[in-house]
Amino acid sequence: MSVKTELHPEIIRDFHNNAFSTPVIGITGGKGGVGKTTVAVNLTAALAARGKKTALIDADVDAPNGGILLGMSLENALDVTVNEPIFDSEKCTDCQKCVKACGMNSLFRSKEKTITLLGECNGCEVCFLVCPVDAITQGPRSVGTTYKNERGNLTLYTGALHPGLAESALIVNAVKERAFAEGDSFDVILVDTSPGTHCNVIGALKGAAYALAVTEPTPLGAHDLDLILSLLDMFAVKKDVVVNRADLPGRQAAIRETTAAHDGEIVTELDLDEELLASYLEGIPVVDFRPDSQASTTFMNMADNLIAEYLSPEQQRTEGQS
Ligand code: SF4
Ligand code: SF4
Repeated sequence: MSVKTELHPEIIRDFHNNAFSTPVIGITGGKGGVGKTTVAVNLTAALAARGKKTALIDADVDAPNGGILLGMSLENALDVTVNEPIFDSEKCTDCQKCVKACGMNSLFRSKEKTITLLGECNGCEVCFLVCPVDAITQGPRSVGTTYKNERGNLTLYTGALHPGLAESALIVNAVKERAFAEGDSFDVILVDTSPGTHCNVIGALKGAAYALAVTEPTPLGAHDLDLILSLLDMFAVKKDVVVNRADLPGRQAAIRETTAAHDGEIVTELDLDEELLASYLEGIPVVDFRPDSQASTTFMNMADNLIAEYLSPEQQRTEGQS
């Protein structure tokens, strides 16, 4: 049973506050390995095939495989940097305000009374702000890369953290900022989040008015569906459910009950599909690989429903290049 948490209305307002009017749709899931990225990629391709200028933000930066499944390479790389502190021991008065203020507990004072960065720095810049004598300067450090690639109506934004680093939230924010800066140039933006209900998922969903939660009819799938739907409730995100591997014998009833308990609907059920699997292995969306297949029809129907529900009348009429 989920626990309901009420957020301050200001937090919810900020969560939904975008600088553009293009609808943002999250593709998410409480559990990994349920086909979330398959849904995101094929729905993106279906919207593009309907002539809609569609952006896919692959915000699953720890396992960014949207590009592989779309058959699109990583291009137009931009470096993501954070400002790490550099300490001037001549100016430092040893007040230790920076040590106490660092939320990552990454600053230490040595016996020689010098301040040293030991550990992760997320570039929050709090230490710069609290230093009373300007003894800290900013040194940029590269933490990862964002990419952008375009093909017809489809634009893919993705990013990757440098190996061995742990600050993936920085890349999620950077890839979203890059896409959102161009938000008005699309008819619709999809965001593929990482699985789970942690900060990166919340960061990825920020700005989404609607989300599809992808799950599977297993005991863990039902449990994790409850968690992700509770998170979406908390941030007042309208949501529905896609059941992947709906043909698995198992917890269909539990999935139905959980969905209904969160005022959602199961909008699509995907059975094991040979043609979808073949398209996955080829790295070509099924709507392009096998346009006459059942799976292709399913994703085109989903795209049509999203267009009718969330795109403005003007966006519904636009016809981009194919
Ligand atoms: S920038 Fe933020 S995280 Fe990094 S050392 Fe300073 S206070 Fe800590
Ligand atoms: S806040 Fe500034 S003066 Fe105080 S210990 Fe840190 S670097 Fe030194």
